[in-house]
Amino acid sequence: MENTSPLIDPFGRTVDYLRVSVTDRCDFRCVYCMAEDMTFLPKRDLLTLEELDRLCSAFVARGVKKLRLTGGEPLVRKNIMQLVRSLSRHLESGQLEELTLTTNGSQLARYAEELAACGVKRVNVSIDTLDREKFQKITRWGQLGKVMEGLEAARKAGLAVKINAVALKGVNEFEIEEMMRWAHGEGFDLTLIETMPLGEIEEDRTDQYLPLSLVRQRLEETFTLSDIAHKTGGPARYVEVAETGGRLGFITPLTHNFCESCNRVRLTCTGTLYMCLGQDDAADLRAPLRASEGDKLLFDAIDEAIGRKPKGHDFIIERPGEAPAVSRHMSLTGG
Ligand code: SAM
Ligand code: SF4
Repeated sequence: MENTSPLIDPFGRTVDYLRVSVTDRCDFRCVYCMAEDMTFLPKRDLLTLEELDRLCSAFVARGVKKLRLTGGEPLVRKNIMQLVRSLSRHLESGQLEELTLTTNGSQLARYAEELAACGVKRVNVSIDTLDREKFQKITRWGQLGKVMEGLEAARKAGLAVKINAVALKGVNEFEIEEMMRWAHGEGFDLTLIETMPLGEIEEDRTDQYLPLSLVRQRLEETFTLSDIAHKTGGPARYVEVAETGGRLGFITPLTHNFCESCNRVRLTCTGTLYMCLGQDDAADLRAPLRASEGDKLLFDAIDEAIGRKPKGHDFIIERPGEAPAVSRHMSLTGG
């Protein structure tokens, strides 16, 4: 009989949220995320789309209710819609409650309609600035116009949109109010993210780090923010902004510890499972996946991994010149 028991970690937390990085590649090179001359994984190390489907489906069988595709840029993976279409069968069966993705929006104009047709209801789109030149500086290779076209297509397709913005000291620091007014005016939620020390980049992270407690304090000089219980399954805490009627989220891994309610694990495009974004410990699921056609070995490996899920991360923003807390890039494990 198929193993359908839920995934519960040693601290009693049920793991029902899987984030899957379907590729480590990207058509942008955001300064806080990647070095300009990134070395990507050789294609032969990647799981095929069929293997990704099998892995995701194994997690769904074990009680995962929410799947988020991310990357790198998920929409640059070749034939990605094949995977989305195939995973949508779990939405139809009711086993999966949500299939969603985090994207830089560059390819959204092309795919929004098809995503909606596959049962995707909302997408997270990362935009750190509304200034075209600044956007190009931050993303190195990106064009804001293309992303805006993607947002328009998402709206037409009926997809709800949440904008993710990384708060960057001296870069978009004084633009956050404007971004919030814009996002809420468009009917989008906005979530602010603190920079996390993941992977070697060219810049110094201590120069980029802007605590969201300070951002909130500044916003409160103009706006009335009330804490609300809204939950999306992710780590953001939300407030409602009385003046705009919109929702604003804060993801603060460094100033606030959100590990106690952690319900998720992360899978890379090579089949490595990370039980915590802020720890190096990982489990290889590719070997058990490939070792047999049945899922017994895979389930055993997943159980063993969940049994090692740590209580929390130990991020600290490194002092100037120190190595990052976690050596892999965000583009490998996904945001
Ligand atoms: N390419 C897609 C995108 O940009 O939305 C998905 C992957 S990206 C790694 C996911 C999210 O992580 C993005 O919102 C990005 O801004 C954020 N991110 C990347 N590196 C980060 C870092 N070092 N600290 C905090 N957030 C980061
Ligand atoms: Fe690409 Fe997203 Fe990383 Fe930017 S944040 S380089 S869009 S993976």
